[in-house]
Amino acid sequence: MVQTAFETRFVRKIPRVADIVSFQFERPEDFDYKPGQWMVVTLPDSSLAHHFTLSSSPSESFLEITTRLRDSEFKKALTELPVDAMIEAEGPFGSFFLPPSPGKVAFLTGGIGITAPRSILRHLIDTRAADGPDRLVLLFANRSDRSIPFEAELKEMTAEFPQLEVIHVISRPSSTWEGRNGHIDAALLQEELGNLRSWNYYLSGPPSLVTSLGQILAGQGVERQAITSEQYLGYE
Ligand SMILES: Cc1cc2nc3c(=O)[nH]c(=O)nc-3n(C[C@H](O)[C@H](O)[C@H](O)COP(=O)(O)OP(=O)(O)OC[C@H]3O[C@@H](n4cnc5c(N)ncnc54)[C@H](O)[C@@H]3O)c2cc1C
Repeated sequence: MVQTAFETRFVRKIPRVADIVSFQFERPEDFDYKPGQWMVVTLPDSSLAHHFTLSSSPSESFLEITTRLRDSEFKKALTELPVDAMIEAEGPFGSFFLPPSPGKVAFLTGGIGITAPRSILRHLIDTRAADGPDRLVLLFANRSDRSIPFEAELKEMTAEFPQLEVIHVISRPSSTWEGRNGHIDAALLQEELGNLRSWNYYLSGPPSLVTSLGQILAGQGVERQAITSEQYLGYE
């Protein structure tokens, strides 16, 4: 994949849930990327740069990043970015993408870590890839069942893509939640996936989550080569 630095126009923002918002930009004709890769974004009149996984898929006509808005200098500037403003971007970077015919794939992610799986799933569905996974499970951890980013789209995806199963794991569920409670741990993984050594794992999200998931998998005898991770540095 050729890396380029380019300018692109801010087109629209889409509130997702709670403080999570997507920002869409024009996609330059010559900018290509693999689903799951990231780019560096620099805002106008600022030397501040942040890394963002593209939550869009290469099968879509725009570039999208999705983030949790917080009280940082960068996020304030991003929130105030006017439509039509030009930003600088550089990419694509990273190796968080599926190889051809990846066998059985389990995405283990939490909160904002959904950006990479969302890109990859959208791409698999849009392209109907013949060399996609045999099975695909997304284990998605969130604090509340009332603020799951991309929840409706993930549900639609399971209807469109029979190999896909989405399992939400909620640490502080509401009284009406009927799905899984707690955290992604070894017992839950075994229950949902069976023989843990027969899967390939893709871990994405805040570093603390990715590290602890990696330790759980290692503790279950999963080999290093079966694990691909992307840590969203900048989050706890
Ligand atoms: C490969 C990659 C992919 C990412 N994808 C996403 C994404 O899809 N969505 C998303 O919201 N965020 C993503 N991030 C994190 C993002 O770049 C920001 O760091 C994060 O959103 C926090 O920004 P902030 O402005 O809220 O906090 P800030 O105030 O900017 O940062 C909080 C703290 O983290 C430190 N920090 C910030 N960035 C880095 C870094 N790259 N390396 C080491 N320390 C750092 C700062 O110095 C500060 O101490 C990704 C990061 C990486 C490295």
